[in-house]
Amino acid sequence: MAETDSSAADIAGVRRRATIGVIGAGYVGLVAAACFAELGHDVTCVDVDAPRVAMLRRGVLPLHEPGLVDLVRRHLGRSLRFTTDAVAAVAGASFIFLCVPTPDRGDGSPDTCFLDRALAGLLPACAPGTTIVMKSTVPPGTGDLVAAAARHAGARGIRVVANPEFLSQGTAVRDFLRPDRIVIGADDACAAAAVGRLYAPLEARVIYCSRRAAEMAKYAANALLATRISLMNEIAQVCDAMGVDVAEVAQIAGADRRIGSGHLRPGIGWGGSCLPKDLRALTATARTHACDHALLDAVAAQNEAQRRRVVQTLLGAASSPGGGRVCVLGLTFKPGTDDVRESPAIAIARELLRAGVDVVAHDPMDPAADGRCDELGRVRDPYEAAHGADAVLVATDWALYAALDWRRMRAVMRGRTVVDGRNCLEPLRMRALGFTYVSFGRAATAWGPGSGLADVAAAEAAL
Ligand code: NAD
Repeated sequence: MAETDSSAADIAGVRRRATIGVIGAGYVGLVAAACFAELGHDVTCVDVDAPRVAMLRRGVLPLHEPGLVDLVRRHLGRSLRFTTDAVAAVAGASFIFLCVPTPDRGDGSPDTCFLDRALAGLLPACAPGTTIVMKSTVPPGTGDLVAAAARHAGARGIRVVANPEFLSQGTAVRDFLRPDRIVIGADDACAAAAVGRLYAPLEARVIYCSRRAAEMAKYAANALLATRISLMNEIAQVCDAMGVDVAEVAQIAGADRRIGSGHLRPGIGWGGSCLPKDLRALTATARTHACDHALLDAVAAQNEAQRRRVVQTLLGAASSPGGGRVCVLGLTFKPGTDDVRESPAIAIARELLRAGVDVVAHDPMDPAADGRCDELGRVRDPYEAAHGADAVLVATDWALYAALDWRRMRAVMRGRTVVDGRNCLEPLRMRALGFTYVSFGRAATAWGPGSGLADVAAAEAAL
């Protein structure tokens, strides 16, 4: 859909200090709100969750993200406010950032009901010249629908810009303030430039593109990340079969600038609130438009198979008479966050419970109030979690797990199996401690104390 082109003067907020409304105070919205305040803008952040807003007004965060609490408290009550009143927030804002959830509808396709509800509330209150910026991850074409909804609601002169968010939970503040790139998709050059200016203090690379390309790029990026991990999980199996260390292989492949080194570590598979959901959404979009999606299906299937292999290994180790016990170290889908949405750790723990195994879990975030892992036994001490366990699964690579006294772990466990689901422990050391140590593509790992390869540097020096 082509929008009427606007002149820069038409668009409110082209000046350096802009008035911004952020709709949704979750991982994306709260980080965006605090970071825009840090960049010098005047921000009102809206959420329908009244207790969440009440907490935020007291400077208490409803989620964990390193560095975020400092930013929120620095700007709270000055250039950063929280409210449940969307209309009041929108009325004074030149830019409205939509950061509401877009969950799976159940058939893989994204449910835009949160978006629809938010728009229904705010469109009538938008002043002419307001720019609506879509940060939520949405299927290509959603921006067109939002523009049409604005016209239908009689909201005049509204610009719709796609500005997908690429932050990674656990490093979200850093990612927002030091992004690899900022993507701004618009059919209106002036609106695109005005949104770009909001980020000017970052001096980051900004990629301007069509709105649909911006929407599509977010799905493509997450599909590529999931594909790399699933592919490395298969390559790791071949490495194990052939006596090759996958870490060496990943290092060599990743040194090629066409490939790059990120997301090449095999393990228990990918999860979290975005990768699985976005892969399913892209698959659903491909299906709707009769496009091939065999590769996307295979990436998802590999991830499921990887989890089943882990469950089978743990069940094999926990077949004690009278019932087995598995200790799961880490519940969040990655370190640095308290988010357990679609966490592989929880999926695996639930499978074990279904098979009649007793599961005791530990996570430094203790995501207890969440409700997603209530059925798991949880303790606050990793040694207590391992007490009497037939096997331990390291499911999240929190640094504290690599730093555990594994000799003490061995002493409190009943069995000897450690499944290192993140390849974060030292294989030779674990084996030397007497563990049946299982990791991914590292059966042949030779690096470590006492290995020949560790002495290469010394040998080179002696030449
Ligand atoms: P979230 O669930 O953490 O937060 C969403 C917030 O929106 C909640 O606090 C909810 O109460 C609020 N909300 C729902 N409807 C509302 C309404 N009508 N008005 C005001 N507030 C409302 O979600 P999130 O993880 O921040 O994700 C938001 C969007 O960003 C999704 O589309 C997601 O795919 C995308 N995204 C997420 C990440 C991530 O790492 N979490 C990264 C990039 C993109």
